[in-house]
Amino acid sequence: MRKQLVAGNWKMNKTLDEALILVSEVVNMVNDEAKGDVKVVLCPPDLYLATLARYLEPITQMALGAQNCHQKASGAYTGEVSAPMLKSVGVEYVILGHSERRQYFAETDQQLAEKVDVVLENGLKPIFCCGESLEQRNGNDFIAFVCSQLTAGLFHLSAGQFADVVIAYEPIWAIGTGLTASSQQAQDMHAALRQHLAGQYGEAVAENTTILYGGSCNEKNAPELFACPDVDGGLIGGASLKSREFVNIVKSF
Ligand code: PEP
Repeated sequence: MRKQLVAGNWKMNKTLDEALILVSEVVNMVNDEAKGDVKVVLCPPDLYLATLARYLEPITQMALGAQNCHQKASGAYTGEVSAPMLKSVGVEYVILGHSERRQYFAETDQQLAEKVDVVLENGLKPIFCCGESLEQRNGNDFIAFVCSQLTAGLFHLSAGQFADVVIAYEPIWAIGTGLTASSQQAQDMHAALRQHLAGQYGEAVAENTTILYGGSCNEKNAPELFACPDVDGGLIGGASLKSREFVNIVKSF
């Protein structure tokens, strides 16, 4: 049975005081209300990771994630944060290849493949994002395009390494727009990605890989999305900034 997971990507939001309130509310609600088998990952800004780690550490079902990391393990890269640094403060997951990173910071497939490597080498788990633009969706080959993002970023890995990889399908046209993929659109893409994994690594790896949906997921649409056979949870942006709504999403399975 593959892992169900809900991750909150806080992006560049919250002051420290606000982050402390949000994390304690989420921790209390998850403790009191959530099913124990859903992994809950919080991805705050890097600045707060070490502080928030203390809140999450006692709760086995919860983990800390970063929103990015540099592709080198150390060096003269002013302003950057490395995988060993993230590991040293208690981070377990790292979001890689988010469409905002690809678009605003010009992250390339080659850089992302290197980031995947450094993350895995340091005992962290990548949440590897992929997804098509609206223009691509309106063309004919959007499924092939998203599959090609997996090929470029992940297919140099061994089957064994794939055990620590989480994939997040995030149609760019649905991120922060209020437009959500229908459950059928999400299921069709997730099934196609799983088939693509099976072609490279075989059925067992494909069946065991967690594939999240992201893009305007909220407490109202999460139950239908999470009921799809190939949707194993969500990568949640805006709705992860509100404790009640985020935990309701966690409880949507
Ligand atoms: C995201 O940025 O990963 C995301 C899914 O954002 P939102 O939920 O706000 O669309």
